[in-house]
Amino acid sequence: MTRRVALIGKPLRRRHSQVMHAAAFAAAGIDGRYELLELEPEAVEGAVAAARGADWLGLQVTAPYKRLVAGLCDAVEPDAATIGAVNSVLRSADGRLVGFNTDAPGFMSGVELAMGRPLAGARVVIAGAGGAAHAVVFACLSAGASQVTIGNRTMESAEALARQFHDVGAGSVSAMALDGRAFAEDLESADLAVNATTVGMLDPGTTIDVGRLPPWATVFDLVYLPPETPLLRAARARGIRASNGSEMLIQQAAIAFERWTGFAGMADVMRAAVTPMLADPAGRA
Ligand code: NAP
Repeated sequence: MTRRVALIGKPLRRRHSQVMHAAAFAAAGIDGRYELLELEPEAVEGAVAAARGADWLGLQVTAPYKRLVAGLCDAVEPDAATIGAVNSVLRSADGRLVGFNTDAPGFMSGVELAMGRPLAGARVVIAGAGGAAHAVVFACLSAGASQVTIGNRTMESAEALARQFHDVGAGSVSAMALDGRAFAEDLESADLAVNATTVGMLDPGTTIDVGRLPPWATVFDLVYLPPETPLLRAARARGIRASNGSEMLIQQAAIAFERWTGFAGMADVMRAAVTPMLADPAGRA
């Protein structure tokens, strides 16, 4: 029996996840298939219900359906419920669907590799308050960051995000305007500066003034296409450690694969498979 996984979203422009999971299925000796299902909203409920079938391992979910799918699962794990987004679903042995979130642990693994140290005790400045920023703020606070500053173009979203997570972990969390003085001042003592906006991918420019960062800081851009954003270029020009979001993408895929199959340690196989695609600014396989 071919074991099935599908990615649900609209639009689905990228094949990175399919390539990584195909490589992991092959390496694990599993007859498995990772499908891309670009669905209209009214088709999502049926697709999720179909994944209760015995040939399914689970699902992955991307924009704009992360909240919708959470409501269609039989159970949602506590971290995913707190973040408010399900990006992966496990079909358990009894056919029940359990929603979980791999963006937060994927970010944590990717960023700790980039920083070369744990997030515990770090002062973190984050640009963005959208879906990805929710996972990033949750990951930083639950990993023990001492201070999290959220800067966003739309102030209300930053405030709502700070309120949502104010009692996660022991660190402080505050919201400010992305172009304000307070945000720029917090950069001066940041151990980690994260871009969790679409700037650098959809819009030109940068969200973080790397000239304000201390020399020991790490810059982490969630954007992975193009592989080097203007933010990363500026950081490297100043000699600041800088990484794009590809490792987060790889780590979150490996976490989901382990949950579905029990096979751990597939990040290296997945990285080898996806690296040629990630090196290509056009994202071709
Ligand atoms: P989203 O929910 O649409 O949020 C977009 C964010 O970008 C919002 O904070 C928005 O601010 C901000 N923004 C958009 N245009 C802006 C501009 N011109 N100036 C300043 N801020 C701007 O998107 P998302 O799902 O969070 O994704 C954000 C990025 O993370 C994307 O590039 C995505 O590819 C990347 N991502 C990477 C991974 C990975 O594994 N590496 C995983 C998830 C996401 P407003 O609130 O003011 O509109």
